[in-house]
Amino acid sequence: MEILEPRDVPLGGPRAMTVRRTLPQRSRSLIGAWCFADHYGPDDVADTGGMDVAPHPHTGLQTVSWLFSGEIEHRDSLGSHAFVRPGELNLMTGGHGISHSEVSTPSTTVLHGVQLWVVLPEQHRHTAPDFQHHVPEPLHLDGAVLRVFLGTLAGSASPVRTFTPLLGAEVVLSPHATLTVPVDPAFEHGILVDEGRIRTAQTLLRRAELGYVPDGATSLTLTNESDTTARLLLLGGPPFGEEIVMWWNFVARSHDEIAQAREDWMQGDRFGEVRGYDGDPLPAPELPHVPLKPRGRAR
Ligand code: MN
Repeated sequence: MEILEPRDVPLGGPRAMTVRRTLPQRSRSLIGAWCFADHYGPDDVADTGGMDVAPHPHTGLQTVSWLFSGEIEHRDSLGSHAFVRPGELNLMTGGHGISHSEVSTPSTTVLHGVQLWVVLPEQHRHTAPDFQHHVPEPLHLDGAVLRVFLGTLAGSASPVRTFTPLLGAEVVLSPHATLTVPVDPAFEHGILVDEGRIRTAQTLLRRAELGYVPDGATSLTLTNESDTTARLLLLGGPPFGEEIVMWWNFVARSHDEIAQAREDWMQGDRFGEVRGYDGDPLPAPELPHVPLKPRGRAR
């Protein structure tokens, strides 16, 4: 198994929150269609100021917000106004174009969660933007609690439609508990550790690390090696066959498409308008002077 180490990335904006990013990275751009993974907290909002991400655009992808603690207020250009809460899936489809803002609420004292992106396949990447909310029923097993927010695991299936086969689940393991679950051998998997130490096969994964399991596995065995409760996210999907260009908040297939999306955000109405956010939208950074290169799955 391959361990993808996190790197610290400041989110920018008016507050000083830092996230731990494990996808994409030089050695691996994708796990299934999962193309981006930020893990943050637990942060005392009194110290960090919490999250305040001004309106910004997305295209060619879906965003998955999943919290362990705290609350985030979401507003988007479709007019959606929603609260992201622990154990609740918020899935935003950028498709052709959407914009949104994310702000932790005043009642939040500890902010802790993940932000994940899923790349849309060629035939759906220009789809209409959308926002969905789903609360998975927790599945209680011996020593483990599963919340399957996308796909199917251990007989628990999410009703949320995806554009490629995907797995997204939160797994909580009691101290020293072991969980063995059958998985689809067509899927590659990512194990993102939130808390505790997780052993799978011969590999020990620590907090904020993302373990990569290639396709071909028919089951996964996860052991919590710590004396306290452990928590992880299990991500999966069949290897994504297309090469993508990812820059800022956009996923496309070429440099020119990215440049067009940037232009459309800076002047145009492709990404709509977020109402109710107190402040100005985020300006796009300058494009690099060298052409953005397509990337695909690691060979
Ligand atoms: Mn966003």
